[in-house]
Formats: sequence, C-alpha cells, structure tokens
Amino acid sequence: MEKKTIRDLDVKGKTVLVRVDFNVPIEDGEITDDNRIRQALPTIEQLIDKQGKLVLFSHLGRIKSEEDKEGKSLRPVSEKLAEHLGRPVKFVPVTRGDELESAVGSLQVGEVLMVENTRFEDIDGKKESKNDPDLGRYWASLGDVFVNDAFGTAHRSHASNVGIANNMDEVAAGLLLEKEIKYLGDAVENPERPFIALMGGVKVSDKIGVLENLLQKADMVLIGGGMSYTFMRAQGLSTGNSVVEEDKLDLAKSLLEKAEGKLHLPLDFRAAKEFSNDAETRVTDYDDLRDDEEGLDIGPKTIEKYAELLQNAKTVVWNGPVGVFEFENFAKGTKGILSTLAELKDTNTILGGGDSAAAAIKFGYEDAIDHISTGGGASLEFLEGKTLPGIQCVDDL
Ligand code: AMP
Repeated sequence: MEKKTIRDLDVKGKTVLVRVDFNVPIEDGEITDDNRIRQALPTIEQLIDKQGKLVLFSHLGRIKSEEDKEGKSLRPVSEKLAEHLGRPVKFVPVTRGDELESAVGSLQVGEVLMVENTRFEDIDGKKESKNDPDLGRYWASLGDVFVNDAFGTAHRSHASNVGIANNMDEVAAGLLLEKEIKYLGDAVENPERPFIALMGGVKVSDKIGVLENLLQKADMVLIGGGMSYTFMRAQGLSTGNSVVEEDKLDLAKSLLEKAEGKLHLPLDFRAAKEFSNDAETRVTDYDDLRDDEEGLDIGPKTIEKYAELLQNAKTVVWNGPVGVFEFENFAKGTKGILSTLAELKDTNTILGGGDSAAAAIKFGYEDAIDHISTGGGASLEFLEGKTLPGIQCVDDL
C-alpha cells in the first residue's frame, strides 16, 4: 500500500490541516496517558520544519448532548502538546465561525493552532460522526492541503478525516499513520515467518473477523484471556464460573476445526471464587476448574509454554490481555508475555491498540516492543484485512 506521506509534500507557507488522534484519557482535567500526543509529534515537528501553518483537528470522547461537553474540551490537550513541542499552541474554543476563520487567517509560518473537539459538532445531528458533507467542505475550505495522521479513527468515515479529504486536492499520510500501515499491514500481508498471533481479551465475538483472518495468515495462534473459556467449553471442558459466550460455542468449534492444530489454548489458569484482586487464588489445570471458580489469568505452565513457542517467531502480533491485568494478582500472565516479547531480539513485535497496549505502557514495556498501535478498533479492523476509510482517503503514490 504505497501512500503519499508528508515527506512528499511541499507545505512552505501553506495552511496544513492535520487530523490527529488526541483522544486521550483525562481525569479531573489531568491527562493520564499522553501516548497519542507523543506519537503525533514527529508529524507535527516535520510540518513545522517544512514551514507550514498548522491547523490540528481531533475528537475527544463521545458527545451526544451539551452536558457531555463537560471535561471534553481539547484545551488541556493543546497545553500538553505545547509542552512537548516547546512552543506555543493557539487554541480556538470553537469548531466553526469567525473566531476560527480569523485565527486560521492570521497564522504565521511554523505556528500551530488546535481546533476545539470535532465531536462538539455531533450535538446537532451528528455532523462529525455521520460525515456531514457541508461540515467536511467547510473545514476543508480553511486550508490548502490535508494530512491524516489519526490511525485511531481510520476505521471511521467522519467529517474530520474522510469529509475533509474528499474536498482537498492533496491528501497525505502523517508519519504515525504511515508507521501503523507499515507494521500492521506488513504483519498481515507480508510477515517474516514464523508469524505467531496472540489473542486475548474477553470476548470471542469481538474478534471473530481477526481470528478468522489470522488463522489463515499466521503459522500459529495462541489464545489467552477470557476468550479461552468459550473455546474450552466448546470442547466439552468444565469452565466453572468463567466468562463463556454460550451463543458462540458453535463458532468456537468451527474455528477449532478450521485451525487444524494451529490454535493453542492455555494449559492452566489462575482462578478465584470472586472477581476481585483480593480473592484467594488457585492455579488449576485446564480441565480442573471447579464450579464456583472463574479463570482470571493464564497459569505458569501456559506462560512457560507460550514463551517457548514465541522464541521461534520472527513476527508476533498480540491483541488483548491474557488475564485481568487491571488486578495485580491476575497480571502475571500479561506481564510474562510482555517480558518474553521484550527479550526477543530478532523478532518484529507488534501490539494491537486497546488493552494490551495499555498494559505494555502500564508495566513499563513501551520501549521494548517494536510497535504499539495507537488504534484499538482500527487495529482490529486492519488485522481483519478490512479497508479502512481513513487510509483509503489518502492519495496513492
Ligand atoms: P478486550 O477489550 O476484549 O481486549 O478485553 C480486555 C479485557 O479483558 C480486560 O479488561 C481484561 O480485564 C479482560 N479479561 C482478560 N482475561 C479475562 C478473564 N479471564 N476473565 C474476565 N475478563 C478478562
């Protein structure tokens, strides 16, 4: 997939509209994880070096009513960005109108402006999320060229990505979008083999498409987390109180058949009688879960077996934690996998976004993984092999 990138652009003196994904977690006005802001810095810095005038767009959270706006302004995000850039970022507290237009019009070369949360446009008829054609056209009219660097929303066709792109002569990918396409795209289309996929998280149903695609593309698929139990039950094993999707048992059976031995399930679990960090834990074999117990993590034998299997891999894609990593006592499996991946020297290690990415950052493995995707839903759809509208709208080279 050869796409035009900002390296191919001449932006000198031009107004560059940039869609970033600054949908970061904010608690009491404080940004608790600024990974997405840091990941966008190379694109912003390169566009500043190339003497563009930058106008940044992003969404933050979901907005359905006026009340939802509370705590969802991008102002604190623009302040955090200014800190990282070491230069001022002008913030415009609206998404359209005179104030925005005159702020854009008076931008100087190398200056950066951030527009208010694009989803504030959703209150009156979901204009952003339903890609209202007038809104895309209006935003596009503010600039000369469009850069999409928001991988996290690339699976959505919104006014601030596809809408702007449809009204622009020149559309390029930012460096983050390029990196995501390269790592996730190469892993699925052209992986160095052996290619091992590791799937966790709570539901099989969320990941059917990914499982089906990866069972075809990968040499081996290792399963962990809550989804294990639907596969165990499908084989007639007792799963106690563990999370099982009863209506997905037939699907799990058919995936197991199609997998022809490629799919590996846990050998043991760390189980408890309550869904709590303080619950007493017991390590159980895969066929020994008692009626009143639920499996909340993979057990030590599984950690060891998966570590051994992963030693041979040249490409690893991991999506979804293998246990309830939010509880310290059930984070051992997820930490074990992270430490195995960190030690693999000649292996391309890639984490789909969402919870496994959050776990890697939480447990300090950010620098030891080759690529941690900034997109949860977007990385899943990409791994499924779907065409993402936010990538499709970028000019081909
Ligand atoms: P997902 O969004 O599908 O990737 O699921 C992530 C969530 O799965 C995390 O919040 C984990 O706590 C949860 N999870 C992982 N393993 C289990 C398990 N054995 N039982 C219940 N929840 C789990």
